[in-house]
Amino acid sequence: MKSKGYAAHVAKGALTPFEFERRDLRANDVALDISYAGICHSDIHQAREEWGRANFPMVPGHEIVGTVTSIGSAVNKFSVGDLIGVGVFIDSCRECEQCLAGLQNYCANGMTGTYNGFERDGVSPTYGGYSNNFVIDADYAVKVPANLDQTGVAPLMCAGITLYSPLKHWNAGPGKKVGIIGLGGLGHMGLKFAHALGATTTVFSHSPEKEADARAMGADHFVSTKNPEFYNELASDFDLILNTVSAEINLEDYLRLLKVDGTLVMIGLSGKPYAIGAGTLIGKRRSLAGSMIGGIPELQEMLDFCGQHQITSDVEVISAEYINQAYERTVASDVKYRFVIDASTF
Ligand code: NAP
Ligand code: ZN
Repeated sequence: MKSKGYAAHVAKGALTPFEFERRDLRANDVALDISYAGICHSDIHQAREEWGRANFPMVPGHEIVGTVTSIGSAVNKFSVGDLIGVGVFIDSCRECEQCLAGLQNYCANGMTGTYNGFERDGVSPTYGGYSNNFVIDADYAVKVPANLDQTGVAPLMCAGITLYSPLKHWNAGPGKKVGIIGLGGLGHMGLKFAHALGATTTVFSHSPEKEADARAMGADHFVSTKNPEFYNELASDFDLILNTVSAEINLEDYLRLLKVDGTLVMIGLSGKPYAIGAGTLIGKRRSLAGSMIGGIPELQEMLDFCGQHQITSDVEVISAEYINQAYERTVASDVKYRFVIDASTF
């Protein structure tokens, strides 16, 4: 199947129009016409090789929403015309403990990334969602609730699930104090979910001008990290803090805000290592943890939750030729709160 998209050709180079082929439909595959694709900071990290060596040409994009245009002979999960979503991975081994438990994101043999990777044959490159169409095994796509505004749905496929999963895993809910560091694409979804789950929410942001937006999205408290005094003023009473920052920050400052048994979850991945003083953890039996997207069953659960609570991402819809500027603005924390590419412009 012929596909038109945008690709990065060298690390840190501009993305430019790119034509390529996608595989013919296998028995359990569906083809979709993409309507929108979100720009995740992970796309930028990879296109710039901030996480190590990448595969070029790279068509990024792992926040995909679109309409099914054809189905393979064995597909009964979807029909032509269905609105579906594709996220950060398109396959996994299907045999390991994690895959069998629906945690394909933690596949023991490695999930197959939507782009910047290879199919399970190890040789066919995967191309992502900055393009007009897609082919995926039906088991790795999910159904989008019809009542949601499509423009704000694509980011749920990565930013949404990546924050929903740890909030559920660490039991965010009534009576729990949850902090979100960074009000970007991931952070604003975390805030909306934490609020909808009934937790008391605090946003830590280095952009004081985002306060009004944060409060409109459900923040009970907003802390400008430009004022370093706040670390001393806030009590150690957080149950859970989610770090969504794409750059390095001082983790000790946040670990100290956790109560006994509180957890700081690493979600942002700057690619640089951290040094932590063990004493900060030991003194209050605190945990430092990590979390990566979510499995297929939880992805569907998250979308259904969004349908019930009318939750979508706040987006700026752009055309394909704006992608490079959108990258610059995302790195400068200047996006409200996710760029989404209109796929009809590829
Ligand atoms: P984003 O939209 O760029 O948001 C990151 C936010 O971090 C910014 O809006 C900003 O919030 C804050 N920030 C940025 N630079 C900062 C700095 N120098 N100091 C302090 N705060 C800063 O990025 P995103 O798409 O949400 O992704 C965030 C990170 O999560 C990336 O590293 C991405 O690769 C990673 N990620 C991880 C997973 C996973 O499964 N764990 C999945 C997807 C993405 P304020 O302006 O409010 O301070
Ligand atoms: Zn992502």
